[in-house]
Amino acid sequence: MLAVLVLLVAVLVGWEAHRELSLDHRLSGVASEIAGRPVSVDCPGFLRGLIDLGGSGGSVMFDANGKPSNTTHLETSVCHDLSDYGATRKRAEFSCVFGTTPCSDRVERAVYAVLVLSHESQHLRGVQSEADAQCYAIQTVARVAERLGSPPAEARAVAAHFLAVDEPLMPTDYSLPDGCVDGGSLDLDPQSSSWPTG
Ligand SMILES: [Zn+2]
Repeated sequence: MLAVLVLLVAVLVGWEAHRELSLDHRLSGVASEIAGRPVSVDCPGFLRGLIDLGGSGGSVMFDANGKPSNTTHLETSVCHDLSDYGATRKRAEFSCVFGTTPCSDRVERAVYAVLVLSHESQHLRGVQSEADAQCYAIQTVARVAERLGSPPAEARAVAAHFLAVDEPLMPTDYSLPDGCVDGGSLDLDPQSSSWPTG
């Protein structure tokens, strides 16, 4: 009986560790694409997740010279929502992202998780200022959403939805700077006239 229990726990821990590693690997690929260099995403995993109380969604450390670390640590809840993104976007309620009114809690959490991965990837790219990172992040949300399974039109809608519904609710540190407009100094693609994507 005990042996069966021990085996069961071992299988569960092993399965969880495998799931965890494959999620980290998938998210690291997305972050590296945005950061323009090989970086990694670290999710807390099952055991660490139990004591992870949460806070800002994710973090990247910078050294005294303003150089970012190669890893971002994401919170359990964000990792969970990113892991579920593919399933969440298939739900009928997800079409709400095409509008500019608040969606269900589940959908808003999925949109926010995409933003967090996009934002931390901007820090990994070397952007230290929270406001600038946030401005670049809203411009790369669509790319992140696409990499997580959204078709292009839906990915653009996720970005526009975040900008309209969620950005105004962000703490002031994350308020968009003056140059954060189409054709502004923080526009990643000034040639394009679409915003925030392109
Ligand atoms: Zn930040």
